[in-house]
Amino acid sequence: METKSKIEPLAQPLKEKILNEINEQVMKCYQCGKCAAGCPLSGEMDYTPNQILRLLQIGEPTCDDEVLRSYGIWLCLTCDTCHSRCPQEVDFPHIMDFLRSEAIKRKKVHPKAKEIIAFHRSFLESIEKTGRLSEVGLIASYKLKTFNLLQDVDLAPKMFAKGKLEIFPHRIKGRQAIARIFEKAMKEAHND
Ligand code: SF4
Ligand code: SF4
Repeated sequence: METKSKIEPLAQPLKEKILNEINEQVMKCYQCGKCAAGCPLSGEMDYTPNQILRLLQIGEPTCDDEVLRSYGIWLCLTCDTCHSRCPQEVDFPHIMDFLRSEAIKRKKVHPKAKEIIAFHRSFLESIEKTGRLSEVGLIASYKLKTFNLLQDVDLAPKMFAKGKLEIFPHRIKGRQAIARIFEKAMKEAHND
């Protein structure tokens, strides 16, 4: 288990970075719990949405570290239910996006989240190459990244039979525009 002395203090508390970089105020949250009550994943999260906001409000290095290492930030579906229910209009999905990106930058990703990241990367690679999702390409790339080679393999014949999986990807006409979007996003990510 990690001790407090091993946690490097961040140059700036996360709540300040969140305010400066994405203009969201975690201090607006008054812990009514409506976000957690409506979140379809809160039962699976180690910290519920309002608990994550409370840890951020405290602003101590140990609390910020706990948030960045949490599994819950990777389970968020960005469904926006929490945001739409919040009486204070806290855009929590926007904050979650920021937290995931910070967790990657600071190498604090929860070990169980690596498969989720592999799935996201495989999804984006498919879009980058063809302009749309190729299910077979996504599955192949995900399995190679995670070595979960046999996971759900029994479903493949049924899905082929029902025409849900196409072997050859469809390519859209505007792939150059898609490539430019990826290039711009990568440049911005490297400049952060
Ligand atoms: S619904 Fe809004 S105010 Fe209530 S706990 Fe969630 S974020 Fe805070
Ligand atoms: S956006 Fe994320 S945190 Fe908010 S309700 Fe949906 S899954 Fe839960």
